[in-house]
Amino acid sequence: MDFQLPQKHSATQTTIFTQMSTLAQAHNAVNLSQGFPDFDLDATLGAFLAEGSSSGFNQYAPMAGLPMLRGSIATDILLRYKVLINADSEITITPGASYAIYTALTTILCAGDEVIILEPAYDCYLPSIEMNGAMAIAVTLNTTDFAPDWQKVKDAITNKTKAIIVNTPHNPTGRIWTMEDWNQLAEIIRDTSIYVVSDEVYEQLVYDGAAHFSALQHPELSTRSFVVYSFGKAFHNTGWKVGYCIAPVHLTKAFRHIHQFIAFSVNTPAQYALAKHLQLTDKLPACQLLEAKRNHFIAAMTQTPFKLLAPSKGSYFQLASYAHFSHLPDKEFAIMLTEKFGVATIPVSAFYSNGFDNKLLRFCFAKKEETLNAAVERLAKIEF
Ligand code: PMP
Ligand code: GLN
Repeated sequence: MDFQLPQKHSATQTTIFTQMSTLAQAHNAVNLSQGFPDFDLDATLGAFLAEGSSSGFNQYAPMAGLPMLRGSIATDILLRYKVLINADSEITITPGASYAIYTALTTILCAGDEVIILEPAYDCYLPSIEMNGAMAIAVTLNTTDFAPDWQKVKDAITNKTKAIIVNTPHNPTGRIWTMEDWNQLAEIIRDTSIYVVSDEVYEQLVYDGAAHFSALQHPELSTRSFVVYSFGKAFHNTGWKVGYCIAPVHLTKAFRHIHQFIAFSVNTPAQYALAKHLQLTDKLPACQLLEAKRNHFIAAMTQTPFKLLAPSKGSYFQLASYAHFSHLPDKEFAIMLTEKFGVATIPVSAFYSNGFDNKLLRFCFAKKEETLNAAVERLAKIEF
């Protein structure tokens, strides 16, 4: 018998995050590659998880999510974005944001459709599009400030375009969308039936007093958007894999129609814990903690030969260039840095479908100060 497995998407390698974290472990390197905090979550959140499990929250949650969690999210969104969301009909709890993105795409895509992605782009977008029989159309962001080139976006639209994926705050560049960016997008897609999938997993991590503008706040775009969040980033618990998707009633109904047959529901005690935690009013904003780490990292990196790009405005990540001291391709450079100097990073070419290599590395600064210091101490030994 000749068993042939189909090629479901064109990403041929294991994700760069797994590759680099595995390499970091093998070489006992400081791991600034994969985006996860190495510090603990808030002890009260951990205690709520235990409380959920010991008070009977151990069976399947309702398919859309625990009502108490959806209610807490609606209150939180109203407080932070001044937008009224219906907890029953517009919020669905998901096992993480990647799942929500995949499910949103599965909800809207048919074979042969096209979806615009803006590169550098998070690595799950392209396979999630292709696994639905559709095609990803990559439009590159400017290489200097990573702003969208709106003419290029406009030129990429065809009668097959079904959606565009937006990511703000942006992984890997740390750029955040202005209201003007949202207005430009609204103008371009106004007379089309293009949906927006808005990946806002780093919404709470914006720095220097900047504001995150959500697709939810755009009166025109919110009516055609699936807006995706992840608790992992705001509460330092990426391993819980709980997120949610907010979309207008008719889109949420269609989203749940898919969701009910793939995950059906999400870890119940974790939902209980997140609901209780969201209700606390004295939480330290995650952006304060992360902004201090970003500043510490940026200052410390002056001891190394790397040239940092503009300070990250949001997310867990800071980009840095090594173009002035090495001609190695970025992936080779990142591997060499892990093996020889003991610091793991992410090569930015992994975020481009054509492998565009501008000699940039992504550093994750969501780490303890001692971790960041240990990395910088090693990087300072690079001579050129
Ligand atoms: N989108 C972006 C931009 C990300 O960086 C990540 C990584 N956490 C995700 C989505 C996936 O989030 P989750 O772990 O909740 O699936
Ligand atoms: N979002 C994380 C990052 O960008 C990775 C999550 C994963 O490993 N899939 O580093």
